[in-house]
Amino acid sequence: MSLPSVVVIGRPNVGKSTLFNRIIGEQAAIVEDRPGVTRDRKELEAEWLGTRFLLVDTGGWLPGGSELDEKVSRQVEAAVQQADLVLFVVDASVGLTDDDEQIAQWLRRIKAPILLIANKADNDRRENDRWEFMALGIGEPVPVSALHGRRAGDLLDEVCRLLPTGMLPDEEPSEIPVDEAGDALWKMGDTPPPRVAIVGRPNVGKSTLFNRLVGADRSVVHDMAGTTRDAIDTLVETPDGPIVFVDTAGMRRRSRIDDSAEYYSMVRALRAIDAADIALLIIDATEGVTSQDQRLAERVDASGCPIVVMLNKWELIDDPERRIEIETEVHRKLYFVGDSPILKISALTGKGVHKLRPVLQESIEQYHRRVPTRDVNRVISDAQQRQPAGHGLRVLYALQGATDPPTFTLFVNRELPQTYMRYLERSIREAFSFGSTPIKLRVRKRSGE
Ligand code: GDP
Ligand code: GDP
Repeated sequence: MSLPSVVVIGRPNVGKSTLFNRIIGEQAAIVEDRPGVTRDRKELEAEWLGTRFLLVDTGGWLPGGSELDEKVSRQVEAAVQQADLVLFVVDASVGLTDDDEQIAQWLRRIKAPILLIANKADNDRRENDRWEFMALGIGEPVPVSALHGRRAGDLLDEVCRLLPTGMLPDEEPSEIPVDEAGDALWKMGDTPPPRVAIVGRPNVGKSTLFNRLVGADRSVVHDMAGTTRDAIDTLVETPDGPIVFVDTAGMRRRSRIDDSAEYYSMVRALRAIDAADIALLIIDATEGVTSQDQRLAERVDASGCPIVVMLNKWELIDDPERRIEIETEVHRKLYFVGDSPILKISALTGKGVHKLRPVLQESIEQYHRRVPTRDVNRVISDAQQRQPAGHGLRVLYALQGATDPPTFTLFVNRELPQTYMRYLERSIREAFSFGSTPIKLRVRKRSGE
């Protein structure tokens, strides 16, 4: 099997060669100098704590430029297309440049995972400067000083973690599921499938709904080891892509383990929620919202999971007045789930179940949504104009640093009060219609201001 290739890319002078030498020097095992390698493209076998990989230095990536530049760029492109991991190096002492942005834009088309490296982070202050690079939309930059070796070990740990075969000693096996033939069901670097938990008290219809969802799609279904020892997750391939249903052991087995004990099913549900991106809270409409339902819903809400409320057995409620009553009850007793979608379904007959798909899709889309930095700043600046924080407190710059859930980083001159943070969160939520998706705000104090 060929070694995974780790390709170093970045504009000239950011320290790619220095980093290359540092990585090779850090683990000291230059196993082989590969022949036939052009000057533009240095390749060396490297090893870190038992993980071996091929380190490829691209020498530079120059958008456009002279004929020679174009030749170099084409080689770089080829190397990057074949990469298992791309190390995108930027210069923390200079800050974000147009060239960095161009490279980032081009890298969006690359399948392989990308690790953003803020080099020349020679001291704490420089390390803090790296947050500016969040604007590239590639994730949190890893700080390193290639010249001095600062944080080189951390960087190599991260590199090994991101490699397809990558596993550090003592680390858990990667969670990528495989099918019966042993092929990965999705590639590293793909967005992992959303994880959906179906939760609710015993007998509300969880199994019936699960079987309905799986059966209706005539989808390919795979068992996966769950996140806890006795859990089984189910990967379902739908026309819109794979979905993982979390902890489906009780739903898939024909003769089910006796989980009628309310307590046990609660424990189980809570574990499933922690492992999920979205929770489907099933409520038996014939019984209305019970205190158990309430407790469960509170717990799902606290976990930060988006919720879809499903009023099941709806076909049994004939009386129109009773229908209205139940809906009112849901809004009153589950007020904290706020804008969560509420669906009325019959898992038994299948009525209304088709409405779940678009709702799920929408929640998933919101969960993964990335808002352009320009728009985030516009919304924050409008919000500050409408209602200033006072006392000279200010958000200087804002950006969405991560998705899943959407996470916004606010660069501030001083710590903002909680109430004001909630106001900003509300402004962001409303401006970009995040619906019931939880969003996170992080604050960084800009040094020197
Ligand atoms: P490349 O063109 O991207 O391969 O960049 P080089 O590796 O040739 O480095 C460009 C310059 O930055 C050289 O003068 C290096 O000594 C310097 N340099 C590289 N890494 C660091 C670092 O971590 N800290 C500082 N202060 N300088 C660095
Ligand atoms: P679980 O314990 O939550 O997994 O619940 P089950 O799926 O085992 O369902 C409990 C009972 O409710 C079974 O007898 C189902 O047939 C019944 N049931 C489930 N969904 C519906 C529904 O939409 N309408 C009606 N009338 N019965 C349902």
